[in-house]
Amino acid sequence: MERRRLGNLDVSPSLLGMGCMRLPLNDDGTVNESLGGEMVKAAIGGGINYFDTSYVYNDGQSEKFIGRALSDYPRKSFYIATKLPPWKVTLAKDAERIFNEQLSRLRMNYIDFYLIQALDRKRWADMLRLKIPEWCEGLKKAGKIRYFGFSFHDTFDGFKEIIGAREWDFCQIQLNYTDTGTEQGGLPAYELCEKKGVPLIVMEPVKGGSLSKLPSDLNGFFTDINPMASISSWAMRWVIGLPGVKIILSGMNSMEQIRDNLSTFNNYVPLSEREKAAIEAVKSARAKRSNNGCTYCGYCEPCPKGVKISRVFRIWNDYAVYENFDVTKWEWLYGTQQSERPDCCVGCGDCARKCSQKINTVDDLKRAQKELDDLCK
Ligand code: SF4
Ligand code: SF4
Repeated sequence: MERRRLGNLDVSPSLLGMGCMRLPLNDDGTVNESLGGEMVKAAIGGGINYFDTSYVYNDGQSEKFIGRALSDYPRKSFYIATKLPPWKVTLAKDAERIFNEQLSRLRMNYIDFYLIQALDRKRWADMLRLKIPEWCEGLKKAGKIRYFGFSFHDTFDGFKEIIGAREWDFCQIQLNYTDTGTEQGGLPAYELCEKKGVPLIVMEPVKGGSLSKLPSDLNGFFTDINPMASISSWAMRWVIGLPGVKIILSGMNSMEQIRDNLSTFNNYVPLSEREKAAIEAVKSARAKRSNNGCTYCGYCEPCPKGVKISRVFRIWNDYAVYENFDVTKWEWLYGTQQSERPDCCVGCGDCARKCSQKINTVDDLKRAQKELDDLCK
């Protein structure tokens, strides 16, 4: 397993990290401890020593599970990352309470990588107002966390603002061969991290599983070259090929995924020119199936009414391409608040005037709302 040094932090965790947000579950929604424990054992046996969780994953079960699973291993043999969810912090003392609960759930007396979770511009403003960055610096000085960073879901403009606001130890963004534009920060965020020397951790390398199950005609671009390689291994190799990415998180929920990922990382071969062309062909075929030509650049935002225009278009277009119902349903029903949906649009036309792709945004937003509502009802 390759290890890449995290810049000035002087640590080199495994390039593949185990994301603990999609743990295997029993029918009653509890974590399947026996399968999960086997997966952790297999992950460690295959060279993984970085585990990423959050206060909110699996309603708090994720931290408890991984704390129990790792308690058999020497504390210095692995790195744990967990996150503070800003939407659960309305007073500064909430952060203190959550952090103490996290240490107790994890059965640890320090956390290696501590992140403010899923920052966007609004949440960042809230965190600044509550002086959460200063509080995290205090945790570092007290030896309760080793490194302080953030995970991110907003456009590149938001990323520039947040990463430029202070000296971060590291940051975490969504990046894969289809999310290269600015909607999630994309390659511009990658390049900015390189320039600023901030170690970058990548999440969603297979876009929540969407890039591991392509429609059969798109699969052919890959299987014609290598029928033995899994479809997700193509997406993983694309991210591994970016030297500025120091850790790649995969939310594995089966032994099969662990084995497949370990095989990809432990036998990594860079993409050939022909393979890169196949990835570009899949990316472009995917774009043609989209409902509109939104590039998720975010130039039309912010909407004065709070509609998350680029996000709504991405969810709508991803379903048109991948027909991945579970991911779409989750993103629409739980990942997009009522106040962020096109229902709140008053038709001012500001976004259409600013759109870099000359999209009739007002009409398309109405279509997206109706089709996603019909799909998920
Ligand atoms: S047209 Fe609707 S979505 Fe676009 S900026 Fe105006 S209120 Fe927002
Ligand atoms: S609607 Fe237009 S401006 Fe807005 S994100 Fe899409 S392409 Fe960019």
